[in-house]
Amino acid sequence: MRHLCCMSCGSTTDSEAEEMEAEGFKTRIVLGIAKQPQDSQRIITVHTVSDIVETQLDPSYYNCDRCNAEIKPGDKCVAFTASRFGVLPDWEHEFMRIIKR
Ligand SMILES: [Zn+2]
Repeated sequence: MRHLCCMSCGSTTDSEAEEMEAEGFKTRIVLGIAKQPQDSQRIITVHTVSDIVETQLDPSYYNCDRCNAEIKPGDKCVAFTASRFGVLPDWEHEFMRIIKR
């Protein structure tokens, strides 16, 4: 699981990570400053019964994966990663300038 969160949603990730670790997950929380989104990061792909539809979202900001709030370039944000399978891939640097791991 990879979630880019606004600061409000990000503030709950500490307790969430604790619970998930107790269940055997590995987790990582990274604080950073949002970068300028790449167009390719702002495409959502929806598979329907008969079709695959790609929608280009506004590339001037990201959306919080939890509450959909706008995360603009320069905004502080939190990246939350969790996996049951040990290795957590690095992805945060594509979305943010990392302040603290
Ligand atoms: Zn949020």
